[in-house]
Amino acid sequence: MKRRSFIGKTLVGSVAALVTPKVLSANENRSFSKIHTPPKGPISICTWNFTTANAAAAKALESGTDALTAAIKAAEVEELNAQNTTVGLGGAPDREGTVTLDASVMDHTGNCGSVVAVENIVHVAALARDVMEKTPHVMLAGKGAEAYAKSLGYKHTDLLTAESKKEWEEWTKESQYKPIINIENHDTIGTLCLDKNGNIGGACSTSGLSYKMKGRVGDSPIIGSGLFIDNTIGGAVATGMGEEVVKTVGSFLIVELMRQGHSPQEACDEAIHRIVEKQGDTIDFQVAYIALDKQGRVGSSCIHKGFTYMHYENGENQNFEVKKYLHS
Ligand code: ASP
Repeated sequence: MKRRSFIGKTLVGSVAALVTPKVLSANENRSFSKIHTPPKGPISICTWNFTTANAAAAKALESGTDALTAAIKAAEVEELNAQNTTVGLGGAPDREGTVTLDASVMDHTGNCGSVVAVENIVHVAALARDVMEKTPHVMLAGKGAEAYAKSLGYKHTDLLTAESKKEWEEWTKESQYKPIINIENHDTIGTLCLDKNGNIGGACSTSGLSYKMKGRVGDSPIIGSGLFIDNTIGGAVATGMGEEVVKTVGSFLIVELMRQGHSPQEACDEAIHRIVEKQGDTIDFQVAYIALDKQGRVGSSCIHKGFTYMHYENGENQNFEVKKYLHS
């Protein structure tokens, strides 16, 4: 299954209205009040059409599992899916032929962990959680992260599958690295869950951009960029061109906009707008966000057509197509 193939039910999300929200000035309409109406039930959302992954998180949530554990379960499905060429096993390698993975997690207490440029370990979201819970650190990189994983009993796995290797070898014939990224060559899984206790947790897992420079790290393991959660407000995750997400600290921005009173949809649109306004409307890379607040409201925005996200609530696991932000 290539990631663009649709498995779930596809709906055009009414939540994805094309709007440019007004940005609040420093003291206007700020609301720092704590939360609101209790959510109706557990909710799980994730980037793209990762139906099985979101269903795994939903199943866990329905049986009472906490939000972070459920979000990691979703990541694990794609990390093990060798057909998914941008997460975990079978992920596209860097330009030298090495698969390196990035992941992050954040829980309802504001605790977080991440791993960057990890080789030979499949379940890097779980590893990010181990960094968070079992070390005094937030982030571990490269060989150190791999060694730590092995000390905990994670097994050594060659992440480069025969198929990814073949595609990479084909790529090396021209070795043409296009700085302008085709939206088809990257698709992180980012998941946000709201559990039965009303707590939010999230996870993000990726092999990053295909044929990236050796050592390149994107937004996904950078807390505040690829993922951010404030359990009094909500959470956000990103996918797409990580460099642009990092420059605008996208997920943190979305949560802060929600804190100021914007809906998840308005906040996601504004975060996309911050990228678009800097670049002009000739942008040919993709960035997309999804957000979930404590009331269970969901928002999503993307630059270009083609981004979808999964939304589980009340027994229904649906895939929504997000309206593009740019008209072009
Ligand atoms: N955001 C990821 C990165 O830049 C890639 C993706 O989501 O497709 O590493």
